[in-house]
Amino acid sequence: MSKAELRARLDEIGVRPSKMLGQNFLLDTNLAKAIVADLEPSEGDHLVEVGPGMGALTVHILATPARRITLIERDHRLAAELTQRYTAEIASGRLAIRQGDSAKTDLLSLFGYGPVKMVGNLPYSASTAIISHFTAAASPACRLVLMVQREVAERLAASPGHKDYAALTVQLGRRWSVRKLRIVPPDVFWPRPAVESAVIEVSKRPVEGLPNPDPEGFSALVRQGFSSRRKQLRSLLKLPLGVWDDWASAKGHPVTARAEDLPVDHWADLALHVTPPGHDHPGEMCDVVDSDDRILESRLRSEVHVNNSLHRAVHLWIFNSRGELFLQKRSPWKINHPDQWCSSAAGHVDTGETYEEAAHREMKEEIGADCPLVKFWKVGASEETGYEFVEYLVGLCDGPFCFAPGEVETGAFFPIEQIRRWVERTPDEFTPLFKMAAAKFLGETERLIKLVSGT
Ligand code: SAM
Repeated sequence: MSKAELRARLDEIGVRPSKMLGQNFLLDTNLAKAIVADLEPSEGDHLVEVGPGMGALTVHILATPARRITLIERDHRLAAELTQRYTAEIASGRLAIRQGDSAKTDLLSLFGYGPVKMVGNLPYSASTAIISHFTAAASPACRLVLMVQREVAERLAASPGHKDYAALTVQLGRRWSVRKLRIVPPDVFWPRPAVESAVIEVSKRPVEGLPNPDPEGFSALVRQGFSSRRKQLRSLLKLPLGVWDDWASAKGHPVTARAEDLPVDHWADLALHVTPPGHDHPGEMCDVVDSDDRILESRLRSEVHVNNSLHRAVHLWIFNSRGELFLQKRSPWKINHPDQWCSSAAGHVDTGETYEEAAHREMKEEIGADCPLVKFWKVGASEETGYEFVEYLVGLCDGPFCFAPGEVETGAFFPIEQIRRWVERTPDEFTPLFKMAAAKFLGETERLIKLVSGT
C-alpha cells in the first residue's frame, strides 16, 4: 500500500496514528513479504500476528498455506476495519481476529490448531512485554519473527561482555536463540519513527547438553546479578562463603567477574549449582510384575526399562470445577516423551506402593497438589504401553499447582473440546498413554467427574 493509499484509508476510518500504540505502518511491500517468508510458514501452521494495524503483513500471511491465522490488535478501530475487510476468511474459520493487548492475551486458547509461529511489526513501547509473554513456558509459540526497535534487537542478540548484554538477554537466552535478520531504516514506515528498526528471528534452543536449573531460581539469580552492572558478582550474589570463588575458578572466570561476563549457559550452570534439583529418580526401585500384574521382584527403574520388564504406572486426570482437564507438558529434559503433553500427573509405582499411593505421591511431586482420587481405567502391559500396567485415576482440584523443575515444563486446564481438536490435529504433541485414554474417555468426562464427586 502506498503512503497516499494508507493515509486515505486511515482518514476514511477516522484514525490518526497513535504514538502510544506505536502505530508506524509499514509501506514497503517487499519487506513485508520477506518478513512473512522468514517465518517459514507451512501447511499445518497456526500463524499469529501481533499488531496487524492496516494489514501490511496480514495480506501476505493470508497468502501462505497456514491452516489457521489469528490476528491480535489492540486498537479497536483497526480490529473492526480488519474484521470488515476479511469477513469471508473469518466465516471460513481460517482467520480469527482478537481485539486486545497481546502482552496479556490468553495464550492457552491458541493451542490445538497446529504449531504456533508468531509474527509482528511490534509497537515499540510494548515489544519486550509482548516477547516475554510469547516466550513464557506456557506459550504455544515455537518460532517468532519480529520487527523491533534496533536497540531492542541488539540487546536480545547481544554476546557476553558487550554493553548491550543484559538480564533480558540472559532470561530469553536460556531457552531461545535470537538472530538479527536485517536492519530496517525509518523511511519504510509512515509516520517515520525516530530510530532504526531490525527484524529478528527467535527460535527454541535444543536442550541437549544445556544445564536445567529451576526456572524461578534462575530468573531470581540473573535479576540479582544484573541489579548493579558495575558491582562484582562475588559481592552482589551473596552466596555462601567459597561457593562463588570455587564455581568461578572451575568455569574459568576470575572471581572479580561481573554479570555481563557470564555466558547464558554459565548463568544456568551457576543457578543449578546454587540450587540443585529437588527430585531425581536414579536409585528408585519399582516392582517387576508378571503378565497378571502379580509382583515378582523389586528392580532399579533403569534396569526395568532397559530389560522391558513388566511394571506398574499411574496416570491422573484432574478436572477443575468448570469441567476442564488439567494437562501437563513434560520437561524437554525428560528422557521419555520430552516436551509432550500428558495426563495431569503420571509416573511409576515404586516398590511397596499401591497404585493409589503412587498416584497421590506423583500428584504431590509433579504438580504440588493432592485431592481424593478414584480409579477409572486400567490397561494391561504391552509394547504400546511401554510394558506398563497403567491405572488411570480421576480427581477434582482447582489448584493452585506448582511444577517440579526438570519434570514438568508447564501445565494448565483446557476445555475438553479444545483437547479433542488438538489431539486430532497434532497427535505427536501428546504421549501415547494420554492419547490411549483420550480416545476412550474424552467423550465421557462428565461421567468421570461424577465418579469422583459422587453426584
Ligand atoms: N503490522 C502493521 C504494519 O506493519 O504496518 C502495524 C504495525 S505498528 C508498528 C504496531 C501495531 O500494533 C499497531 O497497529 C498498534 O495499534 C498495535 N498495537 C499496539 N500495542 C499493541 C498491543 N499491546 N497488542 C496488540 N497490538 C498492539
